[in-house]
Amino acid sequence: MDVYGLVGNPVEHSLSPPMHEAAYDELGIDARYVTFEPADDAGAAAVESAATLGVRGLNVTIPFKQQVLEAVDPAPLAARIGAVNTVDFATDPPTGYNTDAAGVVRAFAHHDVALSGTAVVVGAGGAGRAAAFALADEGMTVHVANRTVEKATDLAAAVAASHPAGPDAAAGHGLDAVPDLLADADVLVNATSVGMEEDRSPVPADALHADLAVLDAVYSPLETRLLQDAAAAGATTVDGAWMLLFQGVEAFEQWTGEAAPVDAMNDALRTRL
Ligand code: NAP
Repeated sequence: MDVYGLVGNPVEHSLSPPMHEAAYDELGIDARYVTFEPADDAGAAAVESAATLGVRGLNVTIPFKQQVLEAVDPAPLAARIGAVNTVDFATDPPTGYNTDAAGVVRAFAHHDVALSGTAVVVGAGGAGRAAAFALADEGMTVHVANRTVEKATDLAAAVAASHPAGPDAAAGHGLDAVPDLLADADVLVNATSVGMEEDRSPVPADALHADLAVLDAVYSPLETRLLQDAAAAGATTVDGAWMLLFQGVEAFEQWTGEAAPVDAMNDALRTRL
């Protein structure tokens, strides 16, 4: 039996175990997906221990996504993002990937959203970094807006530094710039925690419009205030469960080399949300 798992703290309410085990069941793979909750400074040690124990793959979540860089050889995109959410033990040292980035791209693709033109990413934490690099790599011009403006400008500079389009690829802003930025934007990603378990949006409703595709990384609730406002404005909406699904699909495919049973994984996820 193969063992996969999730390292985070806390992880008790994670939806990854049922999502991955639905895939094993669907494809007849003899595997289990378990959760590990090490102490807050023990992310790298947890990865090293998992390698010793023969674990095949780990997902990594808060607060360990940066820490585990010490214990892996990061793939180029994970190194640029500066965070790892998937570890593949097929190599020695294990390889660290960031599948949150693919989660963003594949969530939009699943909704037939073309990733060209201009994107506004609100938030510059872990999810914001993944979204900004992912959308820039798709060829979009990326505007990052964040409550702490310095984090937005630092992220934009990092995106631009590793992008063929250079300084034109990305720019950083405060949240007050969002309405003006959205007027000419094609894509909006909420990568803040605003809206999680609350009826609040990080973006004024009147700044949304029908030519936007809006992904909210928040998945609890599924229909956030932002997505309700976006739907009312006629925008295309993509809820956070799609991003969660496709980061898991990407991790599954990295670990097993098989096409993931997306519908089974999606059903397992959505029945629990
Ligand atoms: P994080 O690294 O802690 O970043 C949090 C972000 O939210 C920062 O940009 C922070 O701004 C901003 N923020 C927090 N409170 C705010 C407020 N009251 N007003 C304005 N901005 C505020 O967290 P994360 O890992 O990026 O996660 C962010 C959200 O994305 C969470 O809801 C998480 O559940 C979700 N997420 C979803 C997926 C998925 O697969 N769907 C994957 C990853 C994350 P400052 O920098 O100013 O503090």
